Amino acid sequence: GDASLEIDLLVIGAGPGGYVAAIRAAQLGQNVLIVEKNEFGGVCLNQGCIPSKTLISAAHQYETMNRSANIGISASDVTIDFVKIQEWKSSVVKKLTSGVGGLLKGNKILTFQGEAMFINEQEARLFNENESLRYRFKHCIVATGSRPIELEAFPFGGRILSSTEALSLEAIPQSLIVVGGGYIGIELGQMYAKFGTKVTILARTPAILPGFEKDVTKLVQRKLEKEKVEVYTETQAQSVETTDHNVTVTYEVKGEKKKVTADYVLVTVGRRPNTDGDLGLDLIGVKLSERGLIEIDGQCRTNIPSIFAIGDVVAGPALAHKASYEAKVAAEAIAGQSSQIDYKVIPAIVYSDPEIASVGLSEVEAKEKGYIVKIGKFPYSANGRALSLQSTEGFVKLVADEKTGLVLGAQIVGEEASNLVAELGLAIEMGATLEDIALTIHAHPTLGEMVGEVAETALGHGIHQM
Ligand code: FAD
Repeated sequence: GDASLEIDLLVIGAGPGGYVAAIRAAQLGQNVLIVEKNEFGGVCLNQGCIPSKTLISAAHQYETMNRSANIGISASDVTIDFVKIQEWKSSVVKKLTSGVGGLLKGNKILTFQGEAMFINEQEARLFNENESLRYRFKHCIVATGSRPIELEAFPFGGRILSSTEALSLEAIPQSLIVVGGGYIGIELGQMYAKFGTKVTILARTPAILPGFEKDVTKLVQRKLEKEKVEVYTETQAQSVETTDHNVTVTYEVKGEKKKVTADYVLVTVGRRPNTDGDLGLDLIGVKLSERGLIEIDGQCRTNIPSIFAIGDVVAGPALAHKASYEAKVAAEAIAGQSSQIDYKVIPAIVYSDPEIASVGLSEVEAKEKGYIVKIGKFPYSANGRALSLQSTEGFVKLVADEKTGLVLGAQIVGEEASNLVAELGLAIEMGATLEDIALTIHAHPTLGEMVGEVAETALGHGIHQM
């Protein structure tokens, strides 16, 4: 056989888990090689967070132009060149993926374009069309991510889309069926609705966006209704017939069978970890859960001490920032530091309209944990900046421990919720109390003032709320 090349750390997969782990490990003096079979940046940069948010932002801009007449701005002949929008999206993605390439190079990280396969606990084969190399590593981080779950009755291809194809359509569809009421289905469905597509959402759950509180998701539901999106909950999508130019989905709602026809059907019913296939985790005995997730300890170490795992291949929310967080812990652990995972503060955002952001514990979760809670709720309609932005729908809700005043969690629905939640994440991380937030001077007029006000409200002395 061929002799092994030597490396300190092998990272498999260059998504927000893998590339961040590689950089952090290189900063700590490790000799690192990262292998990626597709593009740098993983799903997040190429088929996930970035392309979706780019298209969503375009859809918002289009909507804003068309709804400004009531404040005295009229635009006529606002048109969409979707090919150009897609080109712009691709240019954003390209800038970021080549940025990742530059960062890897700048940190003297070796890269291999191809696939990795374990040989044993200390060696892996890296291969592509042209070469096949055998590497011996001291440590390896598995960051191979996830892929869309494919339903047997809805095999991907042609007019049956996964999120990946839905982000790369060449033209705006006239009509679209979305199977799945989770955040990806809602984000992409609403995005196309804003571009003028007739959208039908079929969700299995009693409400869209399971995992978020009803008073929060209600506002998104209401906006979807305004956008003429048809949302069916407690609905089972059963089968699909496709022709050259459309799809017909049969679904069951309240015991009744119905049909709906559209240009495409987008199936977003969850993601599956890339821990199967040729990677060879089973071959070397890496322990997986029933769902195929890799089991790890508080430092992201698997049952095999030389092998670590991070991101969508391990349990917890499948989010880019969670992957990057674990990446740093794993790299630091490998470099001999005592870093430990603490999942208390992982913000979860839905880039719907209005946006939803949540961090820490919800009211229900806090009560379940035995806390006596203090709640503050502040409406966007009482904030000057929100008014000037024509964004009066929504609220900031704060959950605190009555005994200590410690902030336990926050839920925000409304304009810029995704950015507003950062301050509350910091508050929880630093062990801030309601007083700490209330004593912080927030600039006027900003949406951020609502964060200060909601703390005052929880303390019983809100100024702008009776
Ligand atoms: P990935 O990003 O999946 O990267 C894994 C990489 O490993 C891939 O590039 C793959 O090619 C490579 N790979 C796999 N197997 C091998 C092998 N054997 N050899 C070599 N390379 C291999 N998250 C957010 O936080 N915010 C969002 O707004 C958001 N929006 C999303 C929108 C959509 C439509 C989707 C699909 C996802 C979204 N996500 C979002 C989720 C986010 O993309 C993932 O949580 C994140 O990409 C996970 O990072 P990762 O590094 O674990 O894996």
